[in-house]
Amino acid sequence: MRILMVASEAAPFAKTGGLADVLGALPQALVRAGHEVDVVMPRYRGMPEGGDPFSVPLGPQTVDLRVGQTTRGGVRFAFVDAPAWFDRDALYGMGGHDYADNPERFALFGRAALEWARAQGVTYDVVHAHDWQAGLVPVWLDREYVADPHLGRASRIFTIHNLAYQGTFDASWLPRLGFGWDLFTMAGLEFWGRMSFLKAGITFSDRITTVSPTYAREIQTPESGFGFDGLLRFRAADLVGIVNGIDYDRWDPASDPFLVERYDVTSLDRKRANTVALMRELGLPEVAGSRPVVGMISRLVDQKGYDLIAALADELPRLDATFVLLGTGDRRYEDLWLGLASRHPDRFGVRIGFDEGLAHRIEAGSDLFLMPSRFEPCGLNQMYSLRYGTLPLVRATGGLSDTVRNLDPVTGEGTGFVFGDYLPQALFGTLRWALGIYTEKALWRRMQEAGMRQDFSWDASARDYVSVYERARA
Ligand code: ADP
Repeated sequence: MRILMVASEAAPFAKTGGLADVLGALPQALVRAGHEVDVVMPRYRGMPEGGDPFSVPLGPQTVDLRVGQTTRGGVRFAFVDAPAWFDRDALYGMGGHDYADNPERFALFGRAALEWARAQGVTYDVVHAHDWQAGLVPVWLDREYVADPHLGRASRIFTIHNLAYQGTFDASWLPRLGFGWDLFTMAGLEFWGRMSFLKAGITFSDRITTVSPTYAREIQTPESGFGFDGLLRFRAADLVGIVNGIDYDRWDPASDPFLVERYDVTSLDRKRANTVALMRELGLPEVAGSRPVVGMISRLVDQKGYDLIAALADELPRLDATFVLLGTGDRRYEDLWLGLASRHPDRFGVRIGFDEGLAHRIEAGSDLFLMPSRFEPCGLNQMYSLRYGTLPLVRATGGLSDTVRNLDPVTGEGTGFVFGDYLPQALFGTLRWALGIYTEKALWRRMQEAGMRQDFSWDASARDYVSVYERARA
């Protein structure tokens, strides 16, 4: 099959979260399975400029831009270079505020992706758009490209990586983006009196996927559906959850170039050197590494459970544990963690920022990984943790439910620790339980080994995507 993917970020070119990880790995897994894949994304600041010229319609105007290309792992990546729209400090916004012209930016991007694809002289079987930023792509396929020999017959697939981001804007954007008011209906792009790019993607696609089976069920409920639950129940027969894989080329403790000491399931004793190095890197005393080390790497936002952790700010320093955190996000959570680190410099190692290498070293150097998310479409860090012999402590939600098996105290089976109620006491009780289990070395080791042996390769997930593509085409 020939597949066109349209997404606003892809590792290693530009990344703010899990979406980029997926686009950095799924296309290559599809190529390994014998398919041809092109990925189109914007060219952001810092990426190579230039490429072939294109004139792209955008509502009443026509924008002249360029599209550059490179090939990586057998995948062709194309970069929409329109500096006035994408050559900015950040991908989506600054200081907690989205760029005001995001609807125009990502409308232009999606349309440019299709214009580029049309010019490639090949016939696409599938167009796979990701998240709200690419949500208009299936609308244009339906409205503007039905007769196009290269794109007209492609099945349309849309993946929801996080339903919380809906690309909802004032309805006055519709004409500015070149759409008629006939689309401003409940069966079209209208969403509670505004227009939604996410709704566009869902409504105009043949199949919808999301990133775990549990999340696929949860988003059909009023509690987790963000107003989309009705629409998603209506499309339930076309909706499937596929757990993300992890990129073993980048996340494997046996070959990870960011680590001081590499290890695998047969040489777990070597993991220790990474703990010692991590303490040093974060300015913690050596003794901090002899206590269980609890790691966190995250966007510091409510979704990730940071309000629960904040409620425990006075309790955590009393535990026999060392806490290590890497993240950026809400100011109040950054300040809270910096405050903990300055009051307890021997127990809290905190880095505010985005640091790929340190993320790897925290996975390798921690014993326990904390991910108490309020909701989690899939989540990647818990899978990295399992791979790195770092037991995840998670809340039972979304992809966390699908990937972490709670310790059964009777059988000793399990790969981590799971709590249910979104309450500080529930998190705290489970954390204390886990720290108690840490002293049972044989059981801990057995859990580490069980987690490290699990298969989260992209090849398995890619097979599931292929069957979605095939069913859409049938
Ligand atoms: P989300 O996409 O909701 O942010 P995921 O767990 O699916 O959450 O993916 C987050 C990805 O971003 C992971 O690869 C994680 O390691 C990475 N990440 C998040 N915050 C940071 C940070 N501050 N520094 C480095 N990597 C980070």
